[in-house]
Amino acid sequence: MRALWLALALSACASAGPEGWTRSERAAAPFSNTQARCQIETQVVSGSAFETCMAAHGWDRASPSHAGGYNIVGTTLTVDSDVAVRTIRGTQATTIVAEVDLTQLRFDANALVLDEIRVDGVAATVRADTDGVFLALPRRYRAGERFELQLRYHGAPARGLTFEEGGSFYTSYFSCDWMFCELDRPGDKFRFIVSTRTVGGPRYAVYNSDSESNEYPAYLQGFAGGQATEVRQRVGDVTLIYASGHASEADLNALFASTPAMLEFFQRRAGVPFPHPRFVQILAQADEAQEGAGFAVLGDGVVRPMLENPHEDWAIAHELAHTYWGNLVTCRDWTHFWLNEGMTTFMVAAWKQERWGEADYQREIEIARTRWARARDAGWDRPLAFAGPYPDLRTRRAIQYSKGMLFMVELRGQLGEGAFWRGIAAYTRAQAGGVVESADLQAAMEATSGRDLQALFDEWVYPAR
Ligand SMILES: [Zn+2]
Repeated sequence: MRALWLALALSACASAGPEGWTRSERAAAPFSNTQARCQIETQVVSGSAFETCMAAHGWDRASPSHAGGYNIVGTTLTVDSDVAVRTIRGTQATTIVAEVDLTQLRFDANALVLDEIRVDGVAATVRADTDGVFLALPRRYRAGERFELQLRYHGAPARGLTFEEGGSFYTSYFSCDWMFCELDRPGDKFRFIVSTRTVGGPRYAVYNSDSESNEYPAYLQGFAGGQATEVRQRVGDVTLIYASGHASEADLNALFASTPAMLEFFQRRAGVPFPHPRFVQILAQADEAQEGAGFAVLGDGVVRPMLENPHEDWAIAHELAHTYWGNLVTCRDWTHFWLNEGMTTFMVAAWKQERWGEADYQREIEIARTRWARARDAGWDRPLAFAGPYPDLRTRRAIQYSKGMLFMVELRGQLGEGAFWRGIAAYTRAQAGGVVESADLQAAMEATSGRDLQALFDEWVYPAR
């Protein structure tokens, strides 16, 4: 018995792929062939899109790359909003690949009511409490198996969906409050197709997030709609849409006039064509500033100061820069969130330097230094890839946004203009559509500069081992 068990173990070893991968019965080609094929198909070398492709050809990640042990491939959502009573009614179809053997799924707790739950057409049950929504699968799903979840639900989301006076509505960060997902899995990117249905009118418009050409995590998915004033502008192949339920056309023109120049600046620095055929900027009534996949929600409070002082264009630049850094290239988990926010804060300063001159760049650096110093004085300096927790949002931002930005300024100073910007473009190109950790930025900057940056990254980025 023991000998037989050993023989089986050895044969399993012999058919296994490189460390971290297992070969299933569906695998028709060796690992290296499949890897090359998927790198060409997905144009990335790692991350969920790549792993999904590998899994489709029979090569599975041996260990889960996502919390919960599953990977979302895609979600199709139909949402009806009842603006009068501020509720929604939706159907959600989510395709999932198990990364380990699964008997249940966990989603974030929310205020929605589930009317129907099916897994591959079979009725399933849920248990919901303050820790989450736990869905019991009707059978065990093996690692590598793909299945579809179908949900029908209704309710009033506690967060993540704002109904404005006048009948407009828009989503923001808390997407797992209006559908079923887990927000703390930024590394799980998926295709998202949403259709929103609401009673229309002469000026009625809907805007949905764009994840047709690339995958995005849950927190970047969303939709907006309502009676809207709209301005359209073309820049290259991209249609820019400025929309608002309350502002005038003249206001929209004045506030978003610099968007085409910003887009061209970030596109040049990224070295990657703008990834959306259209980009929607929604001017909201509240103090919002939220990036999404192919859209941004910006509140009066953050953009109207531009009418007094045009230099105050940081919020528009920040959310637009996220199109590349944060959205197209996304941190694998929140430990590396500085790659989203520190990079974007730096890009805003770089835009200001380009548009307004050196004094504006230096002013952004001064603001970041002051914020970082405040955290340091409170005993809260941390490496950029510190896994947390932080005592409060302000301290977390002082590290991930401000210190992160200053590290990019430091890298720029040490590497020089040519190598630094080539490194940024190489990093963005290599990781477009994928997920990243701090080491990915280090590798790109080292490759383009030809320098060993370990000591610098140890000083700023990595927690002491
Ligand atoms: Zn941001």
